[in-house]
Amino acid sequence: MRFGDDLHFPRIDRYKGARESMDVINILSLDVMGAFVHWDDDVKYFYCFNGQCCEDCGPAIVRRIIPIVQYSLVGDGQYGAPLSVKYLSAPKDLYDNLILKQTILQKKHGPKITISQVDLFVTCMDTDYQKLNFEIADKCLWRQSKELVEEVKGLYEEYKSLIESSVARKVTPEKYIEIKEMASNQVKPFVKGATWGATPVMKPAPVMKPAPALKPAMKQQTPALASPVIEETSDATDDWDNMVEQPEDITPESDLEMEASLSSEEDDDLPF
Ligand SMILES: [Zn+2]
Repeated sequence: MRFGDDLHFPRIDRYKGARESMDVINILSLDVMGAFVHWDDDVKYFYCFNGQCCEDCGPAIVRRIIPIVQYSLVGDGQYGAPLSVKYLSAPKDLYDNLILKQTILQKKHGPKITISQVDLFVTCMDTDYQKLNFEIADKCLWRQSKELVEEVKGLYEEYKSLIESSVARKVTPEKYIEIKEMASNQVKPFVKGATWGATPVMKPAPVMKPAPALKPAMKQQTPALASPVIEETSDATDDWDNMVEQPEDITPESDLEMEASLSSEEDDDLPF
């Protein structure tokens, strides 16, 4: 690494199709991981912890995470090495479609065959929403080459433990609240200072409640004076404090914790 280069925590890429282009992939392992995730502008993708996250973001997004090998296209519909190990994030319909493809294969070739023994053509109907379509291409190419089997085994060993942390971030409910609070401080740096005793520029308006004698029809009309406007106070010290206290969005520690928690998982061999 050279001075000035960006430092990235190693992560495994998600497979993404692009409209009007075709890819060839193979399902590397039938060891599928279920993931319940949320998206939040401040936290990015994170795992559901079944609490405040669901109240703020709605029901969790459910995905099946499948390790895959992607081939390079070498022209004329040919494909081959170099290979890359990625993961496929499959919503239910896509996952069901892959299961159906395996059932069809088993009807044709017997119950022992699995979807990982064939290569798949992938076309994409919508890049933004990743609407993918799979067609069975042929018997898996890389599994027929000793060299490529060794290469993929090596890549998978290296990347396997990174899949979980690459899909989404693991946050505790406390960390989640902390990130949200940090983010709201960043957007409105002066509001907190104002509530902490800084002098409001405007005095609260004298009339805080509608008079009790108001007729029912009048109740909907909120007088402008009822909501006092407290202007932001320009306190440079508060602003500076907020700026220096901002942590990085994703701390290396949290990713390391993730890796440590994964290291206890079993190391299954590839289903060749
Ligand atoms: Zn949740």
